[in-house]
Amino acid sequence: MKALAFGFPKLGEKREFKRLLENFWRGKISEEELHAGMRDLALWRAELYRKNVDLIPSNELSYYDFMLDTALMVGAIPQRFGEYKGIETYFEMARGKSALEMTKWFNTNYHYLVPEIESDEFCLFINKPLEDYNFLKSKGYDTVPQIIGPYTFLRMSKALRRKEGELPIYEIEKIESKDQFERLMSKLVPVYRDLLKSLKGAGCRRVHIEEPALVLDTEGWQWDLVEGAYRELSEEGLEIAIFTYYDSVSDYERYVSLPVKALHFDMTSNEENLRNIRERGFPKDKELIAGVINGRQPWRANLKEKLTLLGELSKIASELSVSNSCPLYHLPVTVEPEEELPEGLKERLAFAKEKLAELRTLKLAYEGSQEAMKEVEESQRVMELSFGENPQVRKRVASLTDEDFRRDMPYQERSKIQRDILKLPLFPTTTIGSYPQTEEVRKTRTAYRTGKISEEEYKAFIRKQIEHVIAFQENVGLDVLVHGEFERTDMVEFFAFKMEGIATTKHGWVLSYGSRVYRPPIIYGDVSRPKPMTLEEITYAQSLTEKPVKGMLTGPVTILNWSYYREDIPKREIAYQIALALLDEVKDLEEAGIKVIQIDEPAFREGVPLKRKDWEDYFDWAVKAFRLCSRAKPETQIHTHMCYSEFNEIIEYIYQMDFDVISIEASRSKGEIISAFERFKGWDRQIGIGVYDIHSPAIPTKEEMRVVMERAMKVLPKELLWVNPDCGLKTRRWEEVEPALKNMVEMAKELREEFSKVPSG
Ligand code: GLN
Ligand code: ZN
Repeated sequence: MKALAFGFPKLGEKREFKRLLENFWRGKISEEELHAGMRDLALWRAELYRKNVDLIPSNELSYYDFMLDTALMVGAIPQRFGEYKGIETYFEMARGKSALEMTKWFNTNYHYLVPEIESDEFCLFINKPLEDYNFLKSKGYDTVPQIIGPYTFLRMSKALRRKEGELPIYEIEKIESKDQFERLMSKLVPVYRDLLKSLKGAGCRRVHIEEPALVLDTEGWQWDLVEGAYRELSEEGLEIAIFTYYDSVSDYERYVSLPVKALHFDMTSNEENLRNIRERGFPKDKELIAGVINGRQPWRANLKEKLTLLGELSKIASELSVSNSCPLYHLPVTVEPEEELPEGLKERLAFAKEKLAELRTLKLAYEGSQEAMKEVEESQRVMELSFGENPQVRKRVASLTDEDFRRDMPYQERSKIQRDILKLPLFPTTTIGSYPQTEEVRKTRTAYRTGKISEEEYKAFIRKQIEHVIAFQENVGLDVLVHGEFERTDMVEFFAFKMEGIATTKHGWVLSYGSRVYRPPIIYGDVSRPKPMTLEEITYAQSLTEKPVKGMLTGPVTILNWSYYREDIPKREIAYQIALALLDEVKDLEEAGIKVIQIDEPAFREGVPLKRKDWEDYFDWAVKAFRLCSRAKPETQIHTHMCYSEFNEIIEYIYQMDFDVISIEASRSKGEIISAFERFKGWDRQIGIGVYDIHSPAIPTKEEMRVVMERAMKVLPKELLWVNPDCGLKTRRWEEVEPALKNMVEMAKELREEFSKVPSG
């Protein structure tokens, strides 16, 4: 049995990758130094792989994003970038003014660059797999290139259509028509053949082709294309292994009959792959690569169970390899430096480096090593201990009834009460929560967290910021105010710090795109709230003004989707636990006189399963979790906020969340969201459609923002409309925020004057 691994995080133990890139962008190091640094990282990775597994992957270290690299490999460069001039054009495509669109990679938190297919002329343009193969070979590593396959490449790309004389001058859209897909695939496969030829010429014997898109709902004609493509590719005489991950393959029979040497399966995201292998068997002439070590969750594996499973699989498949379930880059590099985790947690964790070691142990134990067997027993002992339990929390969740998921009064009635209390004008104005996180704010927060300033000093500093932002909002003339979120590093990590059952790490960085990193919290036990989390700041802000200040919480679905989570209880239960902790906060805020509470759910869309058949179950608990935490009294106006996803398909589920007001981003996805409301009959909730894109430093004019409002008024009654930016303002500067919001408020006032004269209709 071979052990193999792929997708090890490129960040480096000390975030070397990030530093290299950013130093290069800032002009602190030369291009040559950048390449040299990357080569060091490549060698470090190759050595780590060699110590643990039998096959060393190459072509994994992208300078920005592997989908961008694949686009360049096949020569898919939109005309607007001009002639390709090396690294300059590369970063122009990645992060320049007219960069490629960035979006979530499957259901993960990694963002990839969406290749734009402008013509169907492909060629082997930048042969990075070959360069990488040759480089590592010259250093003594015989590697297996990991390559994104042609089907996944096309499914995750968009076609670019140029429009003459109109604005915007081009449009991109998913490649969905059969004809178009077929045509592109037929042009792409020869390029992949050239690639394989060149690798073979260099002495390479095996390639790993990643086709995660085969776990998405894939139609018969798409399978035909995949089969045809691999039939052709296998003619090049290299050993081909196909990798699928993040879910089970969408059609087992078709997958196992693909004409290739080896097939990889994700055995951790659900049971389906395993069930299929058990029930339908596996072809005798193929190698089965069992992805049994979870690449997405940071738990140490119960190796005893895995070993038993491998034993079983070895009877079904004539050739067996063991691997990780999906790329390891969803995990931090190593748990080694984490010194401040809750007692007993560290030994339960395995990040990427530890996962490599697990693969090694599994292989050695499988081959009969006594020492490895001890490790296997130890992992079983540790992982079978119960951990982080809180019987009260369990009991509370177990005793939930339908009542707990329903507000006491229907929207139509409670909205009248809220209207009388809040007395807001037509087109009320508000912001989404955060205000500029200046250098000073960030420094002071770090100084507090590292013990350089006292809690007293820190709190006084935050109070000053709140005073300033309240005065600012009153001055601008906003109707519903916020406290600015200056005390929060990140909207999820902030609550993770405060909740029991969720740990945060000091060094557990993961790339979310380019050089951007974040530290996902780890939900390891039953979740509860030992004491109020936001009360102090919100009530202080409210004490400074007559206008309503919004209580500001991050919703249960978002906290769960942006964290690692335990796997011993269903996700539904974890979501309810978090929701109950948030409900306690909602109650405290109400008690303290807060009249409007916003519960953000920007990750609501992201957790949606890859296959349609799994949607119902997800939305059932996700909607309920939101309803559970937002079960406020009828007098309290509940807001939610969502952004930067495609909502059209899920608008019915969003409606079921039963909030009073939603603010939703629209300026990027243009009019799309508005057309969703056109189709939705009976929408009666108040809604703030983002009138300007907070990701752009440009200051929006009244006219630009009015366009969004006018479009919205075509499909929604004006009484339902709020006026707000499309997301929080924390990445902007005060110099941008002030004129932008002034314009926004003025635009709202003008609309108000015009429309309060004419009757609705
Ligand atoms: N309330 C948060 C903020 O304003 C919302 C952020 C988000 O949607 N990602 O920053
Ligand atoms: Zn947002």
